[in-house]
Amino acid sequence: MKPELSVVIPVYNEEAGLGNLFARLYPAMDKLGIPYELVFINDGSRDNSVAILAEQYRKRPDVTRVVLFNGNYGQHMAILAGFEQTRGEIVITLDADLQNPPEEIHKLVAKMREGYDYVGSIRRKRQDSAWRTYASKAMNRLRERITNIHITDQGNMLRAYGRNVIDLVNQCAEVNTFVPALAYKFSRKPTEIVVEHEERAAGESKYSLYSLIRLNFDLMTGFSLVPLQIFSLLGITMSLLSALLVLFLLVRRFILGAEAEGVFTLFAIAFFFMGVILFGIGLVGEYVGRIYQQVRARPRYVVQTVLQGMPAAEAGADEVEKRHVVR
Ligand code: UDP
Ligand code: MG
Repeated sequence: MKPELSVVIPVYNEEAGLGNLFARLYPAMDKLGIPYELVFINDGSRDNSVAILAEQYRKRPDVTRVVLFNGNYGQHMAILAGFEQTRGEIVITLDADLQNPPEEIHKLVAKMREGYDYVGSIRRKRQDSAWRTYASKAMNRLRERITNIHITDQGNMLRAYGRNVIDLVNQCAEVNTFVPALAYKFSRKPTEIVVEHEERAAGESKYSLYSLIRLNFDLMTGFSLVPLQIFSLLGITMSLLSALLVLFLLVRRFILGAEAEGVFTLFAIAFFFMGVILFGIGLVGEYVGRIYQQVRARPRYVVQTVLQGMPAAEAGADEVEKRHVVR
């Protein structure tokens, strides 16, 4: 029998918080009373996370599977590798740092059972630093405008996906992607609910400002061509305006004669447009770079080992233990 619910959790240097996570996650899952599996992906942690995950696997092999990467490929690649291992009809993603309370999982499951195949979530009160909350809101607004992906709170990973969505995501070979957006594209009936959010229980955020910028570029370029089109439109507008200016200067020259004033104004305008042009080239580069990575078609991630032994998680721990005794 297959598990009904799969939970996918990427782990990167989370040794300080994993104990707490297990202590809350397993009881919350057992309480649901449905067959489940937990798929942890170690994204090349350099701390003790692997040992802790392996230990947990030995404790609950019936419901635990651990995918070990040979290096750090990023949160979204880890989640994709997890998706490939899942067997449940409902697949939920969760952060390992307890920012997404495991006790909220049942809400997602209940919503999925109403017939949705994508349940996103909005954090009731976001527990992140002020600048991140603010920047994230701005990026949400921008994304809402330039992609046709409607996610209220893109930064939150506590989400549920239907098997139909996961199967389609598993067929994709995207190198740079943003899992919630990709899955949203494939969903037939998406919805969102409000969930709690907590402060990081231990350790620190794995996202620097730089990696957050990269992630947002993945989202914008991966799901929209609007940034490129804006530059085409800007180019057209600028050529039209320059044509008018040339016409104006020509006429002025015949009426008033040559002029040499306003040189610095001209410089200022020229520098501004040079900035715009450089940004435009950079933006084209972002797309070209991604195309380059995609065409090289290297493996997106390398799975070293998968810790899984027991057949599918057929039931809660108690029942599995009982079966062992019977055998
Ligand atoms: N993570 C990962 N690989 C990475 C970075 C992060 O697997 O390269 C995992 C991390 O262990 C956590 C989740 O992704 O489970 C979210 O990371 P984090 O909490 O640092 O991000 P934030 O909450 O600050 O956005
Ligand atoms: Mg976090």
